[in-house]
Amino acid sequence: MDSSGLAALDRRITRCRACPRLVAWREEVARTRRAAFADQPYWGRPVPGFGPPDARLLIVGLAPAAHGGNRTGRMFTGDRSGDVLYRALYDLGLASQPHSVHRDDGLRLYGVRVTAPVHCAPPANKPTPGERDTCRPWLVQELRLLRPGLRAVVVLGAFGWQAALPALAEAGWTVPRPRPAFAHGAHVRLDGLDLFGCFHVSQRNTFTGRLTPAMLRDVLRTAARTAGLPVADLPSGQGE
Ligand code: SF4
Repeated sequence: MDSSGLAALDRRITRCRACPRLVAWREEVARTRRAAFADQPYWGRPVPGFGPPDARLLIVGLAPAAHGGNRTGRMFTGDRSGDVLYRALYDLGLASQPHSVHRDDGLRLYGVRVTAPVHCAPPANKPTPGERDTCRPWLVQELRLLRPGLRAVVVLGAFGWQAALPALAEAGWTVPRPRPAFAHGAHVRLDGLDLFGCFHVSQRNTFTGRLTPAMLRDVLRTAARTAGLPVADLPSGQGE
């Protein structure tokens, strides 16, 4: 664990301007705003990871949403994807509250940190492979700082999976070749780290039932237990 190191990294991330297209987009969205949030100042900058520096479980998403993280300045905060994710973490006893509305809403995560391989909101939620690669050093540094205590990683979606594997390798874990394929429920054992795949909590997946709350909880529960975190015993299927 390196508390000061991680806090310093988070501060440095918020000043990054390495991807011209994403810098232009995140700032444009922050200027124009969605009508429902017209009276709110937007963050409009890279969104750093959220959660304690001694997290045993890391959740890796895709990128902040234009009117979610890019508005509030915190991962999965202020959008429907975050509602689904933090509700599941709360149900498992890994979050202090089920909602994540703004940066100062008091939400705390217990032993869990949430991050993304791309820290700026991309147009249409689609970063390019080049932007993913440009942002990778931030994820590598975060993984290195978390490494002493980190025991499990849950990756949400194929994009995050493809971004996380090389970052894990660069951060010092041995990642098998050929690289394991993404699947919901995938479980890969690295040296000292268990890696899990889960469909992304995007509205496209949760509204269509491709990812149900029970499916998400099942993956998070397994990963948290593997990481040695105490998990509430909610029956699978409850809360749907
Ligand atoms: S996506 Fe990452 S590398 Fe690109 S500008 Fe944002 S923080 Fe920097």
